Amino acid sequence: MVERKKEGKSEEKNEDKMEERKKIAIEDLPGVGEATAEKLREAGYDDLMTLAVASPKDLAEVSGIAEGQASKIIVAARRMADVGNFETGEEILERRREISKLTTGSKALDDLLGGGVETQSITEFYGEFGSGKTQIMHQLAVNATMPAERGGFSCHVLLIDTENTFRPERIIQMAKAKGLDPEEVLRSIHVARAYNSHHQILLGEKAAEMTKEFPIRVLIVDSLTSHFRSEYMGRGSLAERQQLLNRHMHDLLKFGTIYNAVVAVTNQVSARPDVFFGDPTSPIGGNIVGHTATFRIYLRKSKAGKRIARLVDSPYLPEGEVVIQVGEDGISDVSA
Ligand code: ADP
Ligand code: MG
Repeated sequence: MVERKKEGKSEEKNEDKMEERKKIAIEDLPGVGEATAEKLREAGYDDLMTLAVASPKDLAEVSGIAEGQASKIIVAARRMADVGNFETGEEILERRREISKLTTGSKALDDLLGGGVETQSITEFYGEFGSGKTQIMHQLAVNATMPAERGGFSCHVLLIDTENTFRPERIIQMAKAKGLDPEEVLRSIHVARAYNSHHQILLGEKAAEMTKEFPIRVLIVDSLTSHFRSEYMGRGSLAERQQLLNRHMHDLLKFGTIYNAVVAVTNQVSARPDVFFGDPTSPIGGNIVGHTATFRIYLRKSKAGKRIARLVDSPYLPEGEVVIQVGEDGISDVSA
């Protein structure tokens, strides 16, 4: 209980910080006059945060201002928005104190993850088709809307759906099972279909904009890798695929850090070792995904709706395995 109270307090502080950032107009930045501000706004850069996380090249390209000036504006926005600079160890500790944990619906799985799915890092769920990845993503989206006492964040959710597997009907089932108002839960989940990998990358970049309108603390990408896999076939295009995937992962991580949000992604285990190099049971994206995701959960099918979840390569948690239940009510512990 004491723990939870602390969390609530730091969340408030986080919101204050976000409010503050929103109040500063882009004209307040050195070197941004009325004309430049207009160009920036037309290009969709209408607040400090979107400028702070932009790249000089992109900004110059879409707004028509010189790259040198774009670079200066970005640096100024970063300083004002208080992101992207060197931080002292104390500041990092302070930021890490804000980390909150979202329940998966299974106490066993939460414990395996050290209390739930953490904010400010990427958690990857990988496994074969039908191993329950999408079910877990739906459950996290529902749980996020619950209050802190129940392991949620009372927040909204962004879900990037690449395989067209989001089902509002499933959300309704899970919400009812938790005694939540299904309509309210549905209103808190913002879903974007990503039609190809470029579109997916773009949606990742635009996620920050949604935080201006909605209190978003959970970002889900289901699946992280399917478009990349189908678009970049064979060894020849592997380098390009990995580079794009790397950029996308870093956008996601940045979102998680800046907004103190959970980032949960899914990854299908490759069943096509002839197309993809290496071990058929190793997740797609290889090193890139593995090095950027802080927590990786490998899911395996078991009997009667049971799934085995294994924590793999965690920086500070011991490896381990638990059994969870995937049923009509969603994700839960296996009843004794
Ligand atoms: P993937 O890992 O491919 O994303 P899913 O998360 O879609 O897999 O898992 C599909 C499985 O989830 C189904 O085979 C079934 O066992 C379970 N499932 C899906 N919907 C329901 C439901 N309404 N009631 C019970 N189990 C369900
Ligand atoms: Mg799926």
